[in-house]
Amino acid sequence: MLILDGKAVAKARREALKQKIAKLPSKPGLAVVLVGEDKASQVYVGGKIKACHELGIESYEVLLPANVTEAELKKQIDRLNEDKNVHGMIVQLPLPKGINSQKAIGWVSPHKDADCLTMENLGALWAGQPRTMPCTPSGVMAILEHYKIDVSGLNAVVVGRSNIVGKPMAHLLSSANATVTICHSKTKKLREHLKRADIAVIAAGQPEFLGGEDFAKDSVVIDVGIHRTAIAGGKDRLCGDVRFSELNVRAATPVPGGVGPMTITMLMENTVRLYELSQQH
Ligand code: NAD
Repeated sequence: MLILDGKAVAKARREALKQKIAKLPSKPGLAVVLVGEDKASQVYVGGKIKACHELGIESYEVLLPANVTEAELKKQIDRLNEDKNVHGMIVQLPLPKGINSQKAIGWVSPHKDADCLTMENLGALWAGQPRTMPCTPSGVMAILEHYKIDVSGLNAVVVGRSNIVGKPMAHLLSSANATVTICHSKTKKLREHLKRADIAVIAAGQPEFLGGEDFAKDSVVIDVGIHRTAIAGGKDRLCGDVRFSELNVRAATPVPGGVGPMTITMLMENTVRLYELSQQH
């Protein structure tokens, strides 16, 4: 089985991006807004800030308490929308209860939306004229491209239909000429769909709920899930939605070291793209 090494693909793309950034007339800037003290979010934000430093992107971290009002959050986002040094912005999700995520995403200027989550940018993506790319799905496509796995004409099954992963993932696969089925929590006979898949992208957020018997032998399995589970000795371990050790398929991504490192890489690429677009105004 070919192991699709997202860490290696991310490293190669980051190296190329670093060289590109070094030649730019000024530094691209990424603002990260973190509300509350969710541990997983703090880890993700830390990874994003670290990647900025490594690549030569200026990072602006805005930390707000969990009980921040929507008005104050909007004020902060408006300020970043106006800041000429900020070219890309993300509002780390999930937001604490009491803050409407859709509203908060909508406050980000589409010209600075580094996550491709605003309605304008999702519409542009669907219309085939993307301003930025959805980070996790485009990271999956970059892994497939790196390993020369051409999805054209293949049966692709995406498990999950969130705005951040499942839906844009299905769109990118369809744009690359795969025949796409979207499965979700109400899908009957999930395994029958998966068994027919040449490529399966799993983004259900259910720890290790699929295993070797769920996939066709010659399929490609991409596991988007990330879960931290407690193990003995007060430690924890990362796992995906798939029991990786059971797999005996054509190719598969591990967790960790698969899709995860690609998501941050694509965020960095989006930031540079937004920087370049800002220079054209
Ligand atoms: P989500 O909870 O918003 O959506 C989950 C989707 O899976 C829903 O559409 C739901 O209908 C479907 N689903 C749930 N249980 C199912 C089941 N038993 N069978 C079939 N479908 C089912 O989650 P999300 O934000 O799309 O994230 C999905 C997973 O991907 C999570 O584990 C998340 O942590 C991970 N994630 C990883 C990265 C990365 O960089 N690797 C990025 C984003 C999300």
